[in-house]
Amino acid sequence: MRLTEDIYLIGGGSVTGFGLTSGFDCHVYLVDGGDALALVDSGVGGVVSLSEMESNIRSHGFDPEDVETAFITHYHSDHAGGGHLIRDRWGARLAVSSDAVAVLEAGDEVANGLAAAREAGIYPDDTRFHPTPIDDSLSDGDVRRVGSATFEFMATPGHCAGHGSYLLTSGSGATTLFAGDSLFWAGRILLQSVPDCDLQKSLASIERMAATSFEAFLPGHGALTVANGQAHFAMAKAEIDKLGVPKNLL
Ligand SMILES: [Zn+2]
Repeated sequence: MRLTEDIYLIGGGSVTGFGLTSGFDCHVYLVDGGDALALVDSGVGGVVSLSEMESNIRSHGFDPEDVETAFITHYHSDHAGGGHLIRDRWGARLAVSSDAVAVLEAGDEVANGLAAAREAGIYPDDTRFHPTPIDDSLSDGDVRRVGSATFEFMATPGHCAGHGSYLLTSGSGATTLFAGDSLFWAGRILLQSVPDCDLQKSLASIERMAATSFEAFLPGHGALTVANGQAHFAMAKAEIDKLGVPKNLL
């Protein structure tokens, strides 16, 4: 699904996405940098999800093996579970917050919340998280270029530890915020009763992004917008400014 001149939605399940790939996948975005491609997040993993993403990428005239870097927003399974597959099969490099590297490389299902989510019935019993080698450990403010696309990493913890967002400046000058699960359409947040979810950090991250300039707002689930994306952060900030808490997505 083409969203802008250079951004495509190539993954996202029927549970919280648009039914492009397997049920549990978050939104997976492809960015065309001209002579190289980038991905934002990887979906939940598994052979079916991977082949669906491959066919979606090819349907837009691209080759999955031209994906140079996959920028992962956070270590939850629906965002990072497929990382090891696209690294192994497509040769993509994986980039993520330095605060998430150890959990991903260990495949730590307790630390990344999969064990609790499986127990709660959110994922099927046979869902596993594979140890995932990371090629690029990112710190706040780090900038990476993929062809003509420039990605700035923003540490945006709160939804979970080590959560990051990516501010893209396209070759055309257009700006996009890939916000992962830090904020959703209409200023909703996603807090869960798990140890690494932190309300105050979540609100501080939202305030920081609300003060950033961008046009498109592409979150990890649900509705998205290619214009006036900051309006959704302003809605959340209005609640925060009243000492309230933005509404939860679920
Ligand atoms: Zn998440």
